[in-house]
Amino acid sequence: MKCGLEIHVQLETESKLFCNCPTNYQDAQINTNICPVCLNQPGAKPYPTNEKAIKNALMIALMLNCRIDASQIQFLRKHYDYPDLSSGYQKTSIPIGYEGDLNGVRIREIHMEEDPGQFKPDFGTVDFNRSGIPLVEIVTEPDMHSPEEARAFLKELIRVLKYSKGARGEGTMRADVNVSLEGGNRVEIKNINSIKGAYKAFKFEIVRQKNNIKRGVETKQETRAFLESQMITVGMRSKEDAADYRLILDPDLPPIKIDNKEIENIKEVMPEAPHNKIKRFVEEYGLDEETAKVLTSELELANVYEKVAKSIQSEFAAMWMRDELKRVLSYNKLDFVESEITDKDLVELFSMLQNKEITTKAGQRIIEHMPKNKKSPTEIAEELGLTGIVEEEEILNAAKQAIDENPEAVEDFNQGKKASMNFLVGQVMKITRGKADPGETVNILKSLLQK
Ligand code: ZN
Ligand code: MN
Repeated sequence: MKCGLEIHVQLETESKLFCNCPTNYQDAQINTNICPVCLNQPGAKPYPTNEKAIKNALMIALMLNCRIDASQIQFLRKHYDYPDLSSGYQKTSIPIGYEGDLNGVRIREIHMEEDPGQFKPDFGTVDFNRSGIPLVEIVTEPDMHSPEEARAFLKELIRVLKYSKGARGEGTMRADVNVSLEGGNRVEIKNINSIKGAYKAFKFEIVRQKNNIKRGVETKQETRAFLESQMITVGMRSKEDAADYRLILDPDLPPIKIDNKEIENIKEVMPEAPHNKIKRFVEEYGLDEETAKVLTSELELANVYEKVAKSIQSEFAAMWMRDELKRVLSYNKLDFVESEITDKDLVELFSMLQNKEITTKAGQRIIEHMPKNKKSPTEIAEELGLTGIVEEEEILNAAKQAIDENPEAVEDFNQGKKASMNFLVGQVMKITRGKADPGETVNILKSLLQK
């Protein structure tokens, strides 16, 4: 099975795409954020295209690794008849970005368009407050092969859009899902407005198309509607092709020139998308992908890691943050930010470890005390009596004590039960409060026991 998505999300702007009406339609009275332009009254001409909308759309395209064709943006008229569209055509731009990717799903193209109004068939009303709000439409290649993959993609996409601050969230999302099974026709499902909805619609459609195959019925190429309340899809119309839209260049909207300098400016200020951050961490710090994913799971954690990696060996810091720091955070049910641990704290702890001022075991105990603690790792280490590696002499004494106090374990060891060695090492750790070097302890214990 193959699935491609077309996702619409509102861009974050104060005013609409071709007029100065505000975009806060959620809290506005019905049909109050309107003017002759966004109502498409005869003779009303669009204002110059909202620059903020263009910038945001370009930024999103760049964050999704799209190639930008830096010549000009033009708007087309896409004709269709529906009560939410008073002009009879939707102003939709030619693609502003091509051939991007997000976690292995190829982005075919990204373009801008205007949102239509909201038609409420049950009441016979249309609210034009939404009419003319800028949208970005993101079209993927059919690279998703299960409902789970589609859901994961949408979640990550919404995360990227949120990171960008250039688009609104899942609440304004409208997606079309294209589904086809091997050898079958492509079915487009419209009117999906949540990630869960996309998942359910895709799942339902697979079952429906599989049943068609079983019954020997050909799946028609068509557009279907998703009924959220019943979680099913129903036939709407046989699929129109591009010719039905009678696309023409909009003569009211002159082409907008985009120069390379502007693209460079956006690149400089735009936040790095999480999936790009993962890639960079792998290349720059020599991490494996799983580790990079853990470290970028929170923006603040990722930022602190980069600060720490300036003075601490990058793989060493990554390993400690991935295993020990994450363990402590999840045990305490804290986000990294909530833990109040700083890059300075981590550098201090990791330096002590690297300089062998403390053992690994001691480091693990210190980090357990670090969340929401005003004390520095050094102070915590002193408080817990964990500073200083124990001298060989002390390990020797502790090992002798452990052997004297545990004759059964010694007996077991002599019988060939290797596990009793771990027990004895544990005893030495207890006596030295975790300060003994484990490798050295094993060697000393062995030499004592072999005597
Ligand atoms: Zn308006
Ligand atoms: Mn569209």
